[in-house]
Amino acid sequence: MVSLVAVQPEARMSRTFERRGGPPVRPPGGKFLIGGAWREPMSNDRIPVIDPSTEEQIVTIGAATAEEVDLAVNAARITFESAAWRKMRPLDRGRLLEKLALLIERDADELARLETLDSGKPYYVTRNIDLKFTVDALRYYGGWSSKIAGEYLTLSPFFDDGGIYRAYTERRPVGVVAGITPWNFPLGQAIQKIAPALAFGCTIILKPSEEASLTTLRLGDLILEAGFPDGAVNIVTGYGATTGQALVEHPLVRKIAFTGSTATGKRILASAAPQMKRVSLELGGKSPTIILADADLDKAIAGAANAIFPNSGQICTAGSRLFVDDSIFADVVQGVADVARNLRLGGGFEEQTQLGPLISSRQMERVSALVASGIAEGAEPVAGASRLDRAGFFYQPTVLKNGRPDMRVAREEVFGPVVLAMPIKDIREIGAFANDTEYGLGASIWTRDIDKAHLLAEQIEAGTVWINTHNVLDTAVPFGGVKSSGLGREFGSEAVNSYTEPHAVCMRLDGQALG
Ligand code: NDP
Repeated sequence: MVSLVAVQPEARMSRTFERRGGPPVRPPGGKFLIGGAWREPMSNDRIPVIDPSTEEQIVTIGAATAEEVDLAVNAARITFESAAWRKMRPLDRGRLLEKLALLIERDADELARLETLDSGKPYYVTRNIDLKFTVDALRYYGGWSSKIAGEYLTLSPFFDDGGIYRAYTERRPVGVVAGITPWNFPLGQAIQKIAPALAFGCTIILKPSEEASLTTLRLGDLILEAGFPDGAVNIVTGYGATTGQALVEHPLVRKIAFTGSTATGKRILASAAPQMKRVSLELGGKSPTIILADADLDKAIAGAANAIFPNSGQICTAGSRLFVDDSIFADVVQGVADVARNLRLGGGFEEQTQLGPLISSRQMERVSALVASGIAEGAEPVAGASRLDRAGFFYQPTVLKNGRPDMRVAREEVFGPVVLAMPIKDIREIGAFANDTEYGLGASIWTRDIDKAHLLAEQIEAGTVWINTHNVLDTAVPFGGVKSSGLGREFGSEAVNSYTEPHAVCMRLDGQALG
């Protein structure tokens, strides 16, 4: 569950502990995990890793070449074909995932500090949200490994030859998976790809975002320690356009599991088409937060702020379009703006920090440009709308009012702490306004009226609709988007379909066999 404004008391304590000083953060080396061993990169091309809170370089990582990608894919393929992996009992695959969960719990403080250093998120968030979600996801998928079931079917042949026809299906792993992940929840996203792939019998090559690779690299050590067969998980770092593209195009990769921007998702889909690879895409969003006149105002205001500002808005389901009933519009905008002004920005290890920086200067430029475009098109800033005057990529939580659906900032994913508020005059217009976007990932409806809530939820074109809450993600609930927000689902029973394919066996039984 993603929650930042409502911070738990123990989370605050962890932050204080860090402030008092824990063990130092140890950035991993920039090697690649291929076939169960760390390998030095072949190329001298090193990617600088920047601390977004200070803009200082932390370390460098490698840029895997097509040759190294080929080595990693072949290692994954050999393991996928091996008897050791194919014949491993499903329960034992689950046991390995549980072992990894225990190792992550053991090293959770260190992993959280590393994530904070690399991504800028407050330490209490990485420790109490990212790490917990990561471990939960591992346990959830570990449990699935022994519960993958096919079907037994009675057939209805259109002829009568005296036979009785039956069929059964089994779910078979798709094969070698390429997991390509973004920078907003680096470790969690890595596990979201690795855990289902392994639970359902695939092997995987993971390529994290060049903006935030450190915890994924550190995870490689724990994967080795957990005792997965060599080559079951391979990790390469590098640029999307080269390393990522080489993975996507590799003929032995049978499935691409991608989370990131819609533009890259479309490119991946096109690249996968000639080889008919399986693709699951978790892409961008422009999620509406909808507040009806009868909503509990205090909860709705806190909810609207919590929908957009956590992780500095760098969440695919962020509630970036705020639709509010005209009668309460001014109060809601004022309330959300008050929350925005009071949020404390700072480095992830600073005592009072509630919001960290954006991930990169590129993201800062993107957010600044979209806010400027909104203002140029007539939106009025009520809070924020500029970067902080200090080192680091800090952008103030921003509330824009007088929004219109045709504005660029209303149509494009900002991926920053920016919400555009728009009044709604007629409840019958809400569905059309909310759906007037190429995206369809999440939405929330705030009301005390259960009939309105459910009837509206039915109208919204989105993978997930929340009622009186927002951004609640749970491994039990299928997650993904409609329209340009993606293809396929992660989590829940739907994940099985994403990493396996049905293999049908059809048989004729002799109807007279028993006399
Ligand atoms: P991208 O979609 O470009 O990056 C996501 C991942 O894809 C990264 O690992 C990236 O590698 C990789 N990648 C990039 N190009 C290719 C390619 N041709 N083939 C294979 N892999 C590739 O997102 P950005 O980091 O550029 O962010 C841009 C925007 O995307 C953000 O402003 C935001 O709007 C959106 N976004 C959405 C996310 C979501 O969860 N829905 C997550 C992240 C971003 P590398 O980073 O090393 O180039």
